Amino acid sequence: MPPASNFFIRHITAIGIVAVSILVIMMATLFTRQAALLSHSKNMVVHSYEVTTHIQMLFNKIKDAEIGQRSYILTGNPDDLEPYNDAISDEEIPNFPSTSLAQHNSIHEEIAILKQLTADNAMSQRNLNELDGLVDRLLKQLDHSIRLRKTPAARLTMHDSDFGSDKDLMNNIRRVVGALQSEENRLLLVRIQDDEISTKNNNQVAFTGIVLFYIGMLISVRLATQHWKLARQMESNIYRQSQEIAAAHKQLNESHVFLKNIINNVADPIFVKDRQHRWIEGNTALWSLMGKPETELLGKSDYDFFPKDQADVFWEKDEEVFTSGKVNLNIENFTDARGVTHIISTKKACFKGPGGELTLVGVIHDITDIRTMEAKLQESDEARLKSIMNHSGRPVYIKDLQGKYLQVNKSLLALVGLEEKDMVGKTDYDFFPKECADTFRMHDRRVIESGMGIECEEIAPHPDGPHTYISVKFPLYDASGKIYAICGISTDITDRKLAEARLLDYTKQLQGSNRELARSNQELDDFAYIASHDLKEPLRGLFNHAAFLLEDYKDRLDNDGVGRLNRLAQLCQRMEHLINDLLYFSRLGRSNLAVQEIDPAVVVLEITQMMEAFIKENNAHIIIPHPMPHVICDRPRITEVFRNLITNAIKYNDKPEKIVEVGFLESIETSGGTQHNVFYVKDNGIGIDAEFHEEIFRIFRKLHIQEGEEESGTGVGLTFVKKIIERHNGHIWLASEEGKGSTFYFTLGKTAL
Ligand code: ADP
Repeated sequence: MPPASNFFIRHITAIGIVAVSILVIMMATLFTRQAALLSHSKNMVVHSYEVTTHIQMLFNKIKDAEIGQRSYILTGNPDDLEPYNDAISDEEIPNFPSTSLAQHNSIHEEIAILKQLTADNAMSQRNLNELDGLVDRLLKQLDHSIRLRKTPAARLTMHDSDFGSDKDLMNNIRRVVGALQSEENRLLLVRIQDDEISTKNNNQVAFTGIVLFYIGMLISVRLATQHWKLARQMESNIYRQSQEIAAAHKQLNESHVFLKNIINNVADPIFVKDRQHRWIEGNTALWSLMGKPETELLGKSDYDFFPKDQADVFWEKDEEVFTSGKVNLNIENFTDARGVTHIISTKKACFKGPGGELTLVGVIHDITDIRTMEAKLQESDEARLKSIMNHSGRPVYIKDLQGKYLQVNKSLLALVGLEEKDMVGKTDYDFFPKECADTFRMHDRRVIESGMGIECEEIAPHPDGPHTYISVKFPLYDASGKIYAICGISTDITDRKLAEARLLDYTKQLQGSNRELARSNQELDDFAYIASHDLKEPLRGLFNHAAFLLEDYKDRLDNDGVGRLNRLAQLCQRMEHLINDLLYFSRLGRSNLAVQEIDPAVVVLEITQMMEAFIKENNAHIIIPHPMPHVICDRPRITEVFRNLITNAIKYNDKPEKIVEVGFLESIETSGGTQHNVFYVKDNGIGIDAEFHEEIFRIFRKLHIQEGEEESGTGVGLTFVKKIIERHNGHIWLASEEGKGSTFYFTLGKTAL
């Protein structure tokens, strides 16, 4: 709930009561005023009645005076004068009620009373003054006539006019009294109306007051109920809050205990100091390190326990943390309760306490053991490093950034012929010729500038001449990440260098030999071409002569002679075949390849169609089990390769059903390693013994002489195949055993696929 509405609800009862009270006071004031007005109007009505009564009484008195005077005049009886005397006499009549309106007043007294009563009415005052004058005149007339009647002499002289009153005067009196009465009646009417209005207003005010009071009461009751509910709610809130506070307090206590437990269970001593450097908190490890209970330490400063020089350092470091607000880590010496000095690493930080005061917290880590171990390790590291360096079998060294040797191994010492003490602290310029030292320094600088390891060739003088070293040099970094030295390991590669030089010579020689071989092959091809070409001419002559002899001297020769001539002609023909083959073979080496993309399957299909009769005749089946990839090659030559291999597969096959499989393998393991993209032609024929696997590729080499073979086969088929495949940068080999069929494999070089 927002604070403003909270405030409103809390004070609404008070506000309501104040508002109702103000309303009641206002209504009471209004009511009082209305009551006063009502009372006034009522008084005024009574007043008018009183005036009217007095006017009437005055007029009656005047009439009494006149009647008394007339009666006396007529009778002469003094008793008849009584009304007259009453009307004019100012004396009090005994036993006449003084409070009554009908008190015994004389005419003048009545006029005086009326003047007093109508003092605020100018018109009535004027009428009364006039009436006063008229009454005076009337009473004088009446008194005069009465005196005359009392005197007998005078009585005789009295005229009629002396016995009565002046009629005009009386009429005037009547007129004035009438005017007075009508004025008062008017006023009475007005006042009665005023009274009625006041009464009505009063009733309305009273009614409104009652209604408002009732509403006020209702509001008050409602507010009081609300207030009561609110109070109950607040009470329960307060109860709940107090419960929560109690729970929070309990939790806080538990947290405090938990925290204290954690701190106490931290193995490293922890201390907390106030701004005056006094110890205000700590843990069990601290008390045990100090060798004193908590109560003796809290509230004290470092000067109470440590030697002054140590306390000064602690104070200064604490002060640094307090003023900078930054965490600091210090390695300090610390003397414990037993007087043993420890090396400690203290991490101090500062924070604001609950009251805003600066507080310092420090964690002490005893690193005495680590330091001791580090020192030992450093010693053993150095020994180990030395051992590694000495057993590496090659010069190993560490130089500082200025090139001074920091560490050297035995190999290097042996190389320069010095002892360690003579070399450490010196530079390469002290042991090597300047141009050597310059190169070493240049390489060292590259390492320092790049911050990276390098591999370089360096030449150093040796008793048996300069030696070449391959040196690996790399930077060494300190703990802050800065290069402080470079390390070098130099391997003598003089022998390897010589071997390389020799190999280079050999390679050059080989290249020369290859060129020579190619040239001689070329010459051989040329020779074979020329020889075979030139041999054909005499051979044809020989054949022709044999044919002529048979034709012309057939009758003169015996059977043996004819037989020999026939044999000569046959041998000539065979020799021509051989020469033709030789000629073709030499052409294969000389002519350029006309490469194009081909589909080997189509090529095999075409061959099958060409050899259809031969295949049928031999009951052979050519199978292509898988699709083969297209290849870039010389189509007629590769056609020749497939044709030769398929022909041989059928030819050298003793099975009634000859199966020839032509296929492609992405890779195959051979004795010479894995071969990729390999074509093969496989048969179920007679097979070839392993000892002839090389021989069959030699020109004119035949293993199996078949019937009639002498005339047709020359033993060059596989020689051509090999030559064609080699011209395509591929090679050919076979897997075969006698009686178990043969598989010829070949590749076509990297660019074929
Ligand atoms: P030719 O077939 O004319 O004899 P080749 O150079 O084609 O010449 O073959 C050389 C020899 O290799 C053949 O004489 C034959 O003995 C052997 N040879 C070739 N192919 C096969 C094969 N598939 N199975 C068994 N022997 C074969």
